[in-house]
Amino acid sequence: MRLTVIGCASASGNPGEAQSGYLVEERSTAILLDCGPGVLERLRLRETMPEAIVLSHLHPDHVGDLYSVVFAVQDGTSTWRPAVYLPPGGRTVLDEMLRAIELRIGILDAFLSLREYRTASALAIGSLTLTFARTVHTAHSYLIRVGGDAASLVYSGDTAPCPALATHARGADLFLCEATIVEGGDVPERRIHLTATEAATTAREAMVGELVLTHIAAAQRDARLAEARAIFGATRLALPGETYAVQSPTRPATSDR
Ligand SMILES: [Zn+2]
Ligand SMILES: [Zn+2]
Repeated sequence: MRLTVIGCASASGNPGEAQSGYLVEERSTAILLDCGPGVLERLRLRETMPEAIVLSHLHPDHVGDLYSVVFAVQDGTSTWRPAVYLPPGGRTVLDEMLRAIELRIGILDAFLSLREYRTASALAIGSLTLTFARTVHTAHSYLIRVGGDAASLVYSGDTAPCPALATHARGADLFLCEATIVEGGDVPERRIHLTATEAATTAREAMVGELVLTHIAAAQRDARLAEARAIFGATRLALPGETYAVQSPTRPATSDR
């Protein structure tokens, strides 16, 4: 299995980078986790497109390019019509969002196959098996665990610290985890993101093979990496365009990124 970071910018936007979009490939199966602004234009530079998009939640930095996928088919510049998997209840949320801006969910249904995943059962896409657990972020936010032939990857989505994270990341070969905030840097009302220390503590508790930190402002990446490595040595940064082998047992990083 391998992970390619199409975009991993923070929600505030990193210069020249796409927002959340992570390509997971194994043999002939390819899926995209999240589809934030800037992801589609980069995906379209590749030879093949993934067969499915799986959304962790519906914040704009994770879903913004879904509309571009539709408009590209509509204007005849793309034939890519992936299956799109929404969080439970996500269809209603998406419909309400679209109605508020005078669109209808029918425009997505016309070109894409929209479905909701469930936490009670695994989702099989090609050779990959996906499971999901609710996180603490919005009412419709989920982490995604992807199991393959011989390796596993867990993507935190966006979340505040929560027990589900370590439970579902347990033993994963690669843990792709957000580290959006500095201590005390969350929205004032409530916690909705993780610090690098919290991501690393979770990685250690879950005994993952490797931690890949993501969703970080570009200027803050090095500091977050150092913060995490003090707790969990096998930590790297998610960087746009980079590919990461997901293997079991995970070998140490060969470069100091
Ligand atoms: Zn986000
Ligand atoms: Zn979010």
